[in-house]
Amino acid sequence: MSEPEILGTVFQKSLLKLNPELRDKILYQEIFNCWYEIFQTFADKFFPVKVEGKILIVDSNDNSFKDMLKFGAPDFVKKINDKISPDEPIISEIKLGKSFDKPPRLIKKIQTPKKIDEIKLTPAEISTGERKIAAVPEDRKKFLLETILSYQKAEKRKIQGGWHKCKCCNLLCPPNEILCNICLVKEREKLKGAIRKIFIDAPETPFREIQQKIIQEFPHLQKECTLEKIESARMDLILQRAQKISYGDTTSDAATFLVRLIRQLPAEKLTDEIIKRTLKEFKFNLADLPPFKEYKFSKFKK
Ligand SMILES: [Zn+2]
Repeated sequence: MSEPEILGTVFQKSLLKLNPELRDKILYQEIFNCWYEIFQTFADKFFPVKVEGKILIVDSNDNSFKDMLKFGAPDFVKKINDKISPDEPIISEIKLGKSFDKPPRLIKKIQTPKKIDEIKLTPAEISTGERKIAAVPEDRKKFLLETILSYQKAEKRKIQGGWHKCKCCNLLCPPNEILCNICLVKEREKLKGAIRKIFIDAPETPFREIQQKIIQEFPHLQKECTLEKIESARMDLILQRAQKISYGDTTSDAATFLVRLIRQLPAEKLTDEIIKRTLKEFKFNLADLPPFKEYKFSKFKK
């Protein structure tokens, strides 16, 4: 078994344990990290936006490349599968989509020094491998030992290339990263949850104050604690909460909370006037649209 095959198997097993949403995000991160390695000369022409099940959404700023993508997609899909999951295709389609964020700054391949065949294990390392399979039936021992030793070699090669343990688990990660891909995605979700919690407790909290709090709580994600991220978490929360409020409701806790969130106001500064005006301006994002008649009349009245 070669190194990518072994790593591929380990990677697939970790993915299978996760819920689909988290799986998509981790797979995206994995593709993102290998982008230069997979696409080489084409890597700057387009960029990954997200993964949805077996579909990879990509975007490009180059219109002629978008045409090429239509014809080249099957080849590109194959390249990704060969790299990320050689045993079982993990992506089946590439689609063009729109990214509303700036193209991410892609990470160029990190060089690991030696070829896997040049890595030698010490007798102690080999006997660690042998101990792991001590209880395995004789006929499967040889194959399993080979697999384990190749995996150990791959890990050793990474350590020699400056890879180190992830801050949150035992997996190895590249020299300039603090977290492995799986933990990175999980920590990002926690970060988003922490921002939401602050807004739920006190929607009027200034962004700078939120930023300071989350940097303290997530020092390993400092680069990601941006004001844009805070605003995006607030907008998500607003749209999600608005979906639970009916047009005309100006008195329920949910409705007044939504107004506080939109206007970033403490409860004591809310007035009937502010609540009504805000919900009116926001009516098309609520659970149901205003009754047609009322909408028409209000237009004529002005
Ligand atoms: Zn980790």
